Amino acid sequence: MSKVLIIGAGGVGNVVAKKCAQLPQVFEEIVLASRTKAKCDKIASEIDRPIQTARVDADDAKQTAALIQKHKPQLVINVALPYQDLPIMDACLATKTHYLDTANYEPPTAAKFEYKWQWAYQDRYAQTGIMALLGSGFDPGVTNVFCAYALKHYYDRIDTIDIVDCNAGDHGHPFATNFNPEINIREITQKGKYWEDGRWIEIEPMSISRDIDYPEVGPRASYLLYHEELESLVKHIPGLKRIRFWMTFGQEYLTHLRVLQNVGMTRIDPVEYEGHKIIPLQFLKAVLPDPGSLGINYKGKTSIGCIFDGVKDGRPKQMMIYNVCDHAECFKEVGAQAVSYTTGVPAMIGAKMIVEGKWKGRGVFNMEQFDPDPFMEDLNRYGLPWKILDGKTIEN
Ligand code: NDP
Repeated sequence: MSKVLIIGAGGVGNVVAKKCAQLPQVFEEIVLASRTKAKCDKIASEIDRPIQTARVDADDAKQTAALIQKHKPQLVINVALPYQDLPIMDACLATKTHYLDTANYEPPTAAKFEYKWQWAYQDRYAQTGIMALLGSGFDPGVTNVFCAYALKHYYDRIDTIDIVDCNAGDHGHPFATNFNPEINIREITQKGKYWEDGRWIEIEPMSISRDIDYPEVGPRASYLLYHEELESLVKHIPGLKRIRFWMTFGQEYLTHLRVLQNVGMTRIDPVEYEGHKIIPLQFLKAVLPDPGSLGINYKGKTSIGCIFDGVKDGRPKQMMIYNVCDHAECFKEVGAQAVSYTTGVPAMIGAKMIVEGKWKGRGVFNMEQFDPDPFMEDLNRYGLPWKILDGKTIEN
């Protein structure tokens, strides 16, 4: 029996609230809070059991701590933006409340994806006797759990991991992002990076690509990006020789992005406009479609997984673990597209692991540090079934 406070009522918050509401025996009480309370009320009105809603500015740790004091949840599920991670972690510390998120902290003024700011809470969380679970979405999140599961059941040693992320869906807009446009565009316009033979190798944005054959979708042009789970997996998967992250983009998307970059619309430094300071990327977000609104016409599937190469019982072993998710099915169930769904379901399952005591600890944790088995069982049970493809490799 437990109570959770969800912060953030965007595309992902909608899915988390609805999936938690489907399990009243686990999440007995739910509070949904965000900067715009009307968005929380709209989601609440679509749920057939009562949930509470509230307004909070989560940039303000004191305000968030006061909300936590008022409701006394066991856990805060942070699905606002990465900028709010640290103030929400502070509020959880002040109120001795467990914390979970789906994306690592980023400073608003620089597109940097590093766990150092959140890992720095380790001692304070441990001393206070609470836990923080970082990155409980799909990638990061499920991909980290796939790695822990492969290591536990299929490998004596994993040499290489390729995380491959394909969205083969079509939302019908010439250009839109599938999650918060500001965070998404910051992620893909930064330099790419991968880890090999004990060091990080940096590349120009989108400068390495290849066709990858995705299960149930087929071959798609995929680009090497830096993604945050690489940092924690390098630390936690012993003996790893190489890890890379690949994501698909259509030509139409890349052309729009190049034009937006060339005209300065993806800048994150303030510019003077008619006596105001505006940040071009934030203005761009205001004119692009809201990711939460894309679901209604979305067709096609996502296909995301991890391809492993390593050794079992002295023999080389290659395999892939993956999930395929259908945009239209997600919309039918919770009124969301598959990118919000594949993030929101693992956030709910991560929260379930904590409130049921299946994953417990004191301090700050990444997903691969816990037993993957109960999480993998729940993926099958709650909407993200996974499969194993034996012998799958990626061309080098
Ligand atoms: P949205 O932009 O749709 O939603 C963000 C929500 O956070 C909005 O409701 C917004 O409020 C709220 N918010 C923003 N600032 C504050 C604040 N200061 N205080 C309180 N609430 C605030 O984003 P998504 O739902 O698409 O994404 C949510 C998170 O999920 C992001 O951190 C994203 O990076 C992460 N993500 C993780 C993935 C994974 O696989 N791990 C994949 C996709 C997303 P308002 O409505 O007022 O703007």
